Amino acid sequence: MAGRRIGIMGGTFDPIHHGHLVAASEVQVRFDLDEVIFVPTGQPWQKSHRQVSAAEDRYLMTVVATASNPRFSVSRVDIDRGCTTYTIDTLRDLHASHPDAHLFFITGADALEQILSWRQAEELFALAHFVGVTRPGYQLADEHLPSGSVSLVDVPAMAISSTDCRARVAAGQPVWYLVPDGVVQYISKRDLYRDGTP
Ligand code: ATP
Ligand code: MG
Repeated sequence: MAGRRIGIMGGTFDPIHHGHLVAASEVQVRFDLDEVIFVPTGQPWQKSHRQVSAAEDRYLMTVVATASNPRFSVSRVDIDRGCTTYTIDTLRDLHASHPDAHLFFITGADALEQILSWRQAEELFALAHFVGVTRPGYQLADEHLPSGSVSLVDVPAMAISSTDCRARVAAGQPVWYLVPDGVVQYISKRDLYRDGTP
């Protein structure tokens, strides 16, 4: 459909938590988006510091977490492409499948800082408007942002990270209310994060 406004929320989602969902919901309302597409990353061949959970588990947790919101959906583009995900590929693929849409790439303060330092930043900004959301513990300084390409949005502060959720499960602590109920149940059913790789 012409002129649709589509948010894209990329992430490892290992697991997806309420910080991701609040950020996406807030940006959806503020930018009057028709839809927000969550895009779980592909499976990296290797990650120096830790093992990332299977793409299929991260995909299904994302589906479970977003199912009740009619404006949220989940895309498999990065998972089906395989290997390490680069945001430029995500945006090229989603632009190809939604050629007439306005794309808004939603990202936390920590991730935005990395993206701005990339070499293809110019092509990224041509494909999408970037929306940086606040994240507790990370400072967003707008003096280095390219004018017009990036908006900063204050979202209700949720000091939740997937790293912390994994550590809690490994330590036998609850993650109820940090992640959606269905995700708590999925983690337990699939016995994720119990081996303690942080
Ligand atoms: P990890 O601890 O494994 O890095 P994470 O909690 O940072 O996980 P990611 O999947 O890495 O989650 O994040 C996906 C996107 O969501 C990133 O742009 C990140 O900045 C953003 N994000 C994650 N948690 C929050 C939060 N609590 N508030 C706002 N943005 C967040
Ligand atoms: Mg992260």
